[in-house]
Amino acid sequence: MRLILLGPPGAGKGTQATRLVQKFGIPQLSTGDMLRAAVKAATPIGLKAKAVMESGGLVSDEIVVGIIHDRVAEPDARNGFILDGFPRTVAQAEALDAMLARDGEKLDAAIELTADAEKLVSRIVKRAAEAHAAGQSVRKDDDPEVFKTRLAAYFRDTAAVTPYYRAKGILHSVDGMAGISDVSAAIDAILAPVA
Ligand code: AMP
Repeated sequence: MRLILLGPPGAGKGTQATRLVQKFGIPQLSTGDMLRAAVKAATPIGLKAKAVMESGGLVSDEIVVGIIHDRVAEPDARNGFILDGFPRTVAQAEALDAMLARDGEKLDAAIELTADAEKLVSRIVKRAAEAHAAGQSVRKDDDPEVFKTRLAAYFRDTAAVTPYYRAKGILHSVDGMAGISDVSAAIDAILAPVA
């Protein structure tokens, strides 16, 4: 099972990814996590990526394609994986297809959890206000301004890749604002024919 999971922050992607990792016994590969680890370890890639990540821009296709290339070749990813945060450009999507084709493989599905941006923002504003009223500190990711920036970056990036997978006939959209069990059922129905 080789999947791409797309969805804005707050749409429940983490919950679904965790569930699918368990269900299929495949790893979730997040380029953001890998890059953060590289920055922390101050590897040559990390040193190159640090400033770009801090500015909210995109790390070069060459770097992220390189790390995904190495990661999918590891033993735990031989039977499949869930990609999270990759691809973010058409060039990355094409490089992934070429990489898989060389091994006689292909993606099974790209699943997009859809969510209304305004609803996500109002949810996060509410959560931040509640935390504030309770005297708790607001997580940096839940700061409404930081959240809005992340949301805008998500829509900027997916606008580039969703048409690519739609054209290939493997893009599936699921309403991420539905209840967790409904979202899970919708995803399972999409994956049933390829599982
Ligand atoms: P994320 O945790 O997925 O939001 O990624 C955090 C940051 O890492 C992003 O804002 C980008 O700077 C960088 N990044 C992660 N994945 C990619 C990718 N596929 N292409 C380019 N930059 C990426």
